[in-house]
Amino acid sequence: MNVTPQRVAVYRALLQAEDHPSPEELYRRVRRRMPSLSLATIYKALDALTRLGVAREVSVISERKRYDANLDRHHHLVCTRCKKIVDFYDDGLDAIAPPRRLSAFVAHSVSVQVMGLCGRCAQDTPRSRQKGRRACN
Ligand SMILES: [Zn+2]
Ligand SMILES: [Zn+2]
Repeated sequence: MNVTPQRVAVYRALLQAEDHPSPEELYRRVRRRMPSLSLATIYKALDALTRLGVAREVSVISERKRYDANLDRHHHLVCTRCKKIVDFYDDGLDAIAPPRRLSAFVAHSVSVQVMGLCGRCAQDTPRSRQKGRRACN
């Protein structure tokens, strides 16, 4: 792949991020240093980085794609309200063996998504539905 300054900038921003940003979020961050960058370039850079195997897509409930440059074995804590995704390391979850008897599928590894509410969302009383107020980004 061609190593363009744009791709390097996108990769660097993804490496620094711990929140599994969407392309739109990365765009906001990278554009500060590289105002000429377009969102289409971000998409292309993320595709290229994923193909290279240095980043991966995180499958989540969110309608937006989210990306991760952390290739260590880990799991995710997913806040169903604000869509925050936090890395989670757990030996017990690592020990889960991939299912063997699957038809038309070869399982390699298990990655767990723990769904719930992040600290901020859990504190924000769910009973009184406050309109127009968002607890987390
Ligand atoms: Zn949350
Ligand atoms: Zn992650």
